[in-house]
Order: sequence, then C-alpha cells, then structure tokens
Amino acid sequence: MRKQIAAANWKMNLTLQQGEKLLDDIIALPHDLKEYQQAVFAVPFPYLAMAQAKISGKGSVFIAAQNCYNKKSGAFTGETSVEMLQSLGISYVVIGHSERREYFNESNQFLAEKVNICLEYHIHPIFCCGEALNIREAGTQNEFVARQLEESLFHLSAEQLQNIVIAYEPIWAIGTGKTATSEQAQEIHAFIRSLFAKKYGEAVAQNLSVLYGGSVKGSNAKELFLQLDVDGGLVGGASLNAEEFNTIITSLK
Ligand code: PEP
Repeated sequence: MRKQIAAANWKMNLTLQQGEKLLDDIIALPHDLKEYQQAVFAVPFPYLAMAQAKISGKGSVFIAAQNCYNKKSGAFTGETSVEMLQSLGISYVVIGHSERREYFNESNQFLAEKVNICLEYHIHPIFCCGEALNIREAGTQNEFVARQLEESLFHLSAEQLQNIVIAYEPIWAIGTGKTATSEQAQEIHAFIRSLFAKKYGEAVAQNLSVLYGGSVKGSNAKELFLQLDVDGGLVGGASLNAEEFNTIITSLK
C-alpha cells in the first residue's frame, strides 16, 4: 500500500511556546498509525530543531521544512539550504506551495532545481500543484496542473520519483473554507496519477502518494481520504488545533 499522509502546514503561525504545546498535545493523543500511515509537521524554520527533538523515536511522525533554497550553499543571506535541513534530520520539504509561487514568484524551473537538491540530500519533497479559480472556471485545470508537474518533475528518473510526494492544492480552496468536493478531488487525483503512469509506468504511479490540500478539516477529511486516489492531506488552518488535526490523522485510510 502506498503511504497515506496527514501533513500539517503551520505556515507563518504560532510562537515557539505555542508550537511546542501544539506538538505536545497532538503527540499525546492516541493515533495507532499503521505502518503505511504518517503524520508530518511542516513547521517554521526556527522551530525545526525543537520539533525534530520532540518526535525523535516516534516512527510514524516526521518533520518537514516549508521551503528551502535552490543552491547548495554560499552567499545567499537569509536562505536555508537543504544540507542544513539534512543536518537536523528533517525528512520532508514542502516545495512549490501556491503561496510561494504567488508571493515569491517561484517558477516551475526554479522548483525543479529545489527538487533536485532535496533528492541529492535524501529529503523527500512534498511537491505542491494546483490551479487558481479562473483556471478551474475555464475548465483547464488538468492542462495547468500537468504543466506544473511536467516542468518541475518529469526530468526525474523513475527511481527518483519514488521519493516524491505530490500535494494537489486548488488555490481557490486554500484558506477559503471552500473545499473541492470528494468527486472533484478524486477526478483530478486520478488524472495526476494517470500522467505519471504514462510517463513512468503503472507500478510507479500506483506507488506515488497524492495528497489533497484546501480547507481540509476534521469534518471532511474522512470523505476526501476515502477516495481511491487521495492519499491523505496537506492541511493549513485545521492543523493549528490539536483535536482537529488529530481527527484528520485518524481519518487516514
Ligand atoms: C495549505 O496551506 O496548504 C492549505 C491547504 O491550507 P488550508 O488547509 O488552510 O486551506
């Protein structure tokens, strides 16, 4: 069975003390994760070491960075390298979140460079894709998402691809309270998997985890995650509440 993942994206929220308490509260709740299920916490950079220390020894819980730079090291004041993340023991990096694409002009090519460095340092990218409302309304979301994936990931080998997690996040559903219906999610997740099947073969595509993101909550997680091609979620707002995120974790199939 491919990995089923509940990934929290704290974004630029919480103080250190609030972050510590939230992690403590969630870790204290019973989850009984199966061996193919994972909880991942994408925390702000200053909290990575704290979070990594707190989850140490917990086999199904991993820490992610929310971003990294596309160069290995050097005179890039204010940036964070993948090697730094590796030295902390970080397992995942969120790459190409729509907020980074929009506010920091991150292009598909730039993201491809970040993906390459992550793989070189054995860190799994959680690669985000997804369309804005005008594209959904025009009915061209498949073409749009296909282009994002092709331009950032299709240069990878089948072996490299196995270290990637995809997060489909329609921009119109992020932080808006508007969720894609489970049918809409299933339809585009199946399309995404079919793209990878065409390029890399069915076995590789069947092994690829494709998460849904966009106003996932405790109340809608189960129905979304039950869809055949939805392998969990990337969760913003609802991941800031321990009970709510716990319900999302326990909704994994
Ligand atoms: C996100 O930040 O990736 C996200 C999906 O946010 P929200 O759950 O708040 O819509």
